[in-house]
Amino acid sequence: MMHWARVAKCVCTATLLAAVLGGTARAGQSETQPARGANQPVDEAYTAKIKKYTTEPYFTSPLVDYLPASKNVPTPEVVLGDVSGAPGILPYAEDVYKYMRLLEKASPSRVKVFTIGHTEEGREMIAVAVSSEANLKNLESNRAELAKLADPRTIKLNDAEADKIVARATPIYYITGTIHSPETGAPTALMELAYRLAVDESPYVKEIRDGVVTLITPVVEVDGRDRMVDIYKWHLSHPNDFYPSLIYWGKYVAHDNNRDAMGVTLKLTENVLNTYATWKVQVLHDLHESVPYLYDNTVGDGPYNAWIDPILADEWQMIGARNVADMTKFGMPGVFTHGDFDTWSPGYLMFIAAMHNGISRLYETFGNGGADTKERTLDPEEYARTWYKQNPPLPKTLWSQRDNNNYEETGLLTSLHYFNENKRMFLKDFYIKSKRSVQKPGAEGPAAYVLPGDDPRSELQAELLQVMDKQKVEISRATSAFTVTFPPKKKEDDTKHAHGAAKAADKDKADKDKKDTEPTTREFPAGSYIIRMDQPYSRIADALLDHQYWSPDDPQKTPYDDTGWTFGELFGVQVVRVTDAKVLSAAMERVNAVKLPGGVKGDGAVFAINNNAQPTLATLRYKLKDATMDAAEEPFEAAGTKFNRGTILVKGVNRADLDKAAGEAGVEVVALGSAPDVKTHPLRAARVAFVHTWLSTQTEGWWRLALDNIGVPYDYMSTQAVGKIDDLRAKYDVILFPPVGFNAPASLIISGLPTSWGNPLPWKNTTETPNLVGKNDSTDDMRPGLGWEGLAKLQEFVAKGGVLLTATDTSNFAISSGFENGVTLNQAQKLNIVGSVLSARLVDSASPIAYGYSDKVSVYCDNGPIFSLTAIAGERRRRRLGSHSKERPTGRGTIDDPDFAVGRPATEVPEEKSTETWEIPEVTDEQKVNNPRVIPDAELPRVILRYADSKDLLVSGLLEGGDEIAQHPAVVDVPSGAGHVILFSINPVYRGETRGTYSFVLNTIMNWDSLNAGRKPAEK
Ligand SMILES: [Zn+2]
Repeated sequence: MMHWARVAKCVCTATLLAAVLGGTARAGQSETQPARGANQPVDEAYTAKIKKYTTEPYFTSPLVDYLPASKNVPTPEVVLGDVSGAPGILPYAEDVYKYMRLLEKASPSRVKVFTIGHTEEGREMIAVAVSSEANLKNLESNRAELAKLADPRTIKLNDAEADKIVARATPIYYITGTIHSPETGAPTALMELAYRLAVDESPYVKEIRDGVVTLITPVVEVDGRDRMVDIYKWHLSHPNDFYPSLIYWGKYVAHDNNRDAMGVTLKLTENVLNTYATWKVQVLHDLHESVPYLYDNTVGDGPYNAWIDPILADEWQMIGARNVADMTKFGMPGVFTHGDFDTWSPGYLMFIAAMHNGISRLYETFGNGGADTKERTLDPEEYARTWYKQNPPLPKTLWSQRDNNNYEETGLLTSLHYFNENKRMFLKDFYIKSKRSVQKPGAEGPAAYVLPGDDPRSELQAELLQVMDKQKVEISRATSAFTVTFPPKKKEDDTKHAHGAAKAADKDKADKDKKDTEPTTREFPAGSYIIRMDQPYSRIADALLDHQYWSPDDPQKTPYDDTGWTFGELFGVQVVRVTDAKVLSAAMERVNAVKLPGGVKGDGAVFAINNNAQPTLATLRYKLKDATMDAAEEPFEAAGTKFNRGTILVKGVNRADLDKAAGEAGVEVVALGSAPDVKTHPLRAARVAFVHTWLSTQTEGWWRLALDNIGVPYDYMSTQAVGKIDDLRAKYDVILFPPVGFNAPASLIISGLPTSWGNPLPWKNTTETPNLVGKNDSTDDMRPGLGWEGLAKLQEFVAKGGVLLTATDTSNFAISSGFENGVTLNQAQKLNIVGSVLSARLVDSASPIAYGYSDKVSVYCDNGPIFSLTAIAGERRRRRLGSHSKERPTGRGTIDDPDFAVGRPATEVPEEKSTETWEIPEVTDEQKVNNPRVIPDAELPRVILRYADSKDLLVSGLLEGGDEIAQHPAVVDVPSGAGHVILFSINPVYRGETRGTYSFVLNTIMNWDSLNAGRKPAEK
């Protein structure tokens, strides 16, 4: 039933008070009031249900407390069977799309649905455009106008021309929902929002429709949505049971899908980024649920990302403050915009806009993780009144999915309206930000980043450039050599030299200082890649390639995510920041697609592949799994080329086949006239098992993604399955046990969740839950862990010659479970590394695990475990005083003097070999006496990589208390029985960002049965 509603007068009064916080031209009383239109027909039945499902009168607003009626346009009820936000109803993505397409069919001039791509599991992603007839008709011409603002070079940076476009163009406001699958409210809110925007004739909504194109992707993580709906339905039909937690969201990662906006490795990121760039979007607004009741975390807290245009920070303040103001005036409690979210990392989906001259926004509303109406009790810090939360949420309340939808829709409608009111300013800002991106070389700089044409890591260089390409960054290539000048290094603080006379040492120092005060030059060869900073998307390139520094003294003590990510370092390729504007006039051409180099060059019947730790070596190894490949154990020279240790010699394949496979894999092969005289061992396509827990699959997901992209096949199995396989060694050569991800203790990995009470938690496809498994794993009960049987199986596997590879928390598990002798864990006291890039040093370049690496390696570390080595099994390495120690006992004399015992002549102190932090202290003669715990040489751990010295440790990000981990082993190969356990303190495979360290894992896989190659003679 419908009736003609009256204007809700009380609301007008409230809105008259709306002094605009944003400093706008059209403010206050001249703005249209947020209220239903005087002649607006209302869908009474739907409206009654909205009221019924809203648990308190103040959990709604005059914008959403009714539903406008339309004669021909269906409401969400046709698909949902009830209203948006109704209890018990969560639609699958397919149903959401079905509704959006019904809307399009019924209102084709105001609604258009576009496919924007597919997910890893093949599900469709869509974007729905809702706007006026005129705007949708002019989409293409408007896009052409926005494109000129997005790339001001097209109008020669002409402000007058830009102003004309600003005065007539229609901006695009892009809303994305439910990237985080357990945050379930957005799809129904966005279905109803699309309906309102299409049919509501109230002046308030009509202005939005006429003034803005609202673009909506109702479901971002489509694979995860369908799994979540399955689980919710299972929960509804088993109301008294515990239900399984959402262990898989997308095919690969869970919550981290919202950390992929740097590496762009997931389809959902790529699809949203492409949509953003194609539509020339001004605002990207991503919907989340976790915080009561609406936290517009756009403003959040510092530190802000150092590469955003300050104009953006002002826009955040304007929109955020106005958003809070509007909703506060509606009397809706718990709406705020400051809070504990720093805006440092550019990894969030919404940050695509921040890094591409738009405006990023993010809501956290309050979700119930499903559509149940529940009594919710908050933590004191959640309901406390603070300076930025004057009307805080209630300590305890009944909360419904409809309440959540009311908040989401009200926030979005007020945002859209405010944005439309001020769209000329925001469009102008969009132009200015784009222009300032183009003007970067002459402003803050740099002028360009150069990736040298002679970088031996051409394959990883190409991969890095491909990420830039996905980010829509323009790449150029020098057609001839060019030289640039670097400014003198900053002089050291003069006060350090203020004291003392001119000693000889000081003079040397002064000479060196003088050298540092002079500019230096560098020539780059033809073929070098240049990423110019005079382009519209210079900001994202700069943010990814630059270094980050998070001060330990920063007032923000709890970084929200990673603090460092420098891509050149993590990819292990040279990236040179050039401030000299002359670089821009070097002869160069645009590169449209960067291809991995590959194929066979040279003449001869012996094929050699130089090893530069490029992951594609593994691609080729598995692609040609019948070919014979051997790894050179020493470097050699042939055909005028220096080949590194680990160079691969290929036999048993003809040139044409090798050329084709190497071309596809992205591997450069050199044909040689004769085989080099060098010791080799076989390089094998190992049979790999990949073990995950049922506790979390988040962090290991990045490993699966990497292996799938590289083309390394593996059997994916849970810890539960390990114990059920009769003979692991008969089936597998290598078992990868990547990080669980939340510093999971060994006991939890072994025991899993309690099974003495409660019900089984199945993760399997049934008619009730058809989407759960996808291409991943299944179980009848997620609760059991590895178990003692599984642990015994793993131990047997290693004893019989298998290789077990672990990282971070699974390394802790291996050490605590007695897998290896000679490695202990130090307890960190002050150490604080929050997702930072650290510097590491090769210790044993002869180990196959190190093949292709040079001395210095940048690694990703997030409070990694601190390993110490000992030659006495079960004994913790202790600080010892003695000749090797920098410390001395209390006694006579200065620190360098020997102490003496009174009344007898001085005695000779026996020499003790000094031991570095990453080394194994020598066992003393005293310790050897009748000591069965002394580990024989052949069984001692072998350190491959260690953390750099304290002063060199930090590359990017936050590092506090670094002394505790400096110099400690970062990668250790521990012989165990006939096999090996490889322990990583770093996470070598992470978010598609750490490709420079992938080969530590891939080398282990391919050299699994020759890991002792290059081990010193005394050793095994
Ligand atoms: Zn979220």
